[in-house]
Amino acid sequence: MSKGITSQNEDYSQWYNDIVIKADLAEHSSVRGCMVIKPYGYSLWENMQSVLDQKFKETGHSNAYFPLFIPKSFFSKEASHVEGFATECAVVTHYRLKNDGNGQIIVDEEAKLEEELIVRPTSETIIWNTYKGWIQSYRDLPILVNQWANVVRWEMRTRLFLRTSEFLWQEGHTAHATSKEAIEETEKMLDVYADFVENWMAVPVVKGVKSPNERFAGAIETYCIEALMQDGKALQAGTSHFLGQNFAKAFDVKFTNKEGKIEHVWATSWGVSTRLIGALIMAHSDDLGLVLPPKLAPTQVVIVPIHKGEEDLAKITEFVDGLILKLKALNIRVKYDDRDTQRPGFKFAEYELKGVPLRIAIGARDMENGTVELARRDTREKFTVAQDGLDTYIQNLLEEIQKSIFQKALDYRNSHITKADSLEEFVELLDNKGGFIAAHWDGTPETEQKIKEQTKATIRCIPLNNPLEEGTCILTGKPSKQRVYFARAY
Ligand code: AMP
Repeated sequence: MSKGITSQNEDYSQWYNDIVIKADLAEHSSVRGCMVIKPYGYSLWENMQSVLDQKFKETGHSNAYFPLFIPKSFFSKEASHVEGFATECAVVTHYRLKNDGNGQIIVDEEAKLEEELIVRPTSETIIWNTYKGWIQSYRDLPILVNQWANVVRWEMRTRLFLRTSEFLWQEGHTAHATSKEAIEETEKMLDVYADFVENWMAVPVVKGVKSPNERFAGAIETYCIEALMQDGKALQAGTSHFLGQNFAKAFDVKFTNKEGKIEHVWATSWGVSTRLIGALIMAHSDDLGLVLPPKLAPTQVVIVPIHKGEEDLAKITEFVDGLILKLKALNIRVKYDDRDTQRPGFKFAEYELKGVPLRIAIGARDMENGTVELARRDTREKFTVAQDGLDTYIQNLLEEIQKSIFQKALDYRNSHITKADSLEEFVELLDNKGGFIAAHWDGTPETEQKIKEQTKATIRCIPLNNPLEEGTCILTGKPSKQRVYFARAY
């Protein structure tokens, strides 16, 4: 135990909650399943948003905004879509309250909406209804739009960041003239997500496609990136859907192609959410608190003076002011904590809890020796280095920390992909080791469902470029041509 954080070994799920709350990322709200994202958590989200937003723009997308409310009739237009989302929709039925005469505020039954509105759980329907007016000819295509928004899915079992009833996300919705182009877009955006999650969040992912059971409601194919958490459970970190012509058919969106023929438009949609913050926490953090990858950490370097008197502090501060200018010139996010209301030890623990990647402590003796003391959050190593050239030293060290956090997670992930050839072996692995279990499956939704009921493991994905291999299904013994990745998941 440290600072009241439950240890991972004792209770992983309590550990996770403790980190979210104690590192000041978020808290539960008075609304069931909905959280308050606090400034520190939100600044992490903003850093993620800005990188992703830039990547979307570099790949030709523009941002737009569509309504929060979707007429109920829109939902019923795409049969499998409505079926998938029906059980978790918030519905607006009235538009006015009134005083009942006894001082109670009640819903005014006279103010009933003619058609109920659904609070968007995802925006395909309202967007495709809108695209109908935007698309007539192949010259209007492609449409490459992204929206940053909040959505509501009435989840029964919620967890801070990982699964909330309201969450923040981005949803890309693109329209194309050909199936090939739409599939390319779906795969391109999966790569954008994988690049972001691996190279910024330092979390390795498996790219794959979902089995029919786990496919997005209304999609022809759902591509996903799956990450592994430190307790051996998997987390879906992002999805990219090839929607075929399903939504174009439902909303009657047609275009005249180059040959002058009329065709339905091809669609994709893709999204990542504030769940990524949960992934970041569970992939790297430890019993002392958060471990953040430098590229996303709101503060990358914190400087703490260790001084006896005002004179010491003045000398240290003079040096620090110069260092801060140099670090800022290198775009390093640095903070100088010269509060005299807290002792250095308290500050050290606080920045460990908050996952600041690098801490610099400077005392009077360091000033005499021309040195500082550095402490890495990820490995907790401490070392003394020269003040000379410190800015570039720190720049390099931050890069090394980023790489080393990724490598650690990658080693863990790679050592947690295990083959199982029988159901007993499968369950044994799930219970004692966790991770991804590569096993043969007969390809039917029924078998997947039965395995889920018996073991609580689901098919996380069929990896892309999966090698073909003859085998037999671990449950039914029927023939199978490839192993797929199962795991217990968040
Ligand atoms: P989907 O539209 O279902 O493909 O989900 C898009 C993204 O949002 C995926 O990356 C999901 O992992 C994530 N997501 C789905 N449901 C939730 C939820 N209740 N809370 C947070 N993130 C979610």
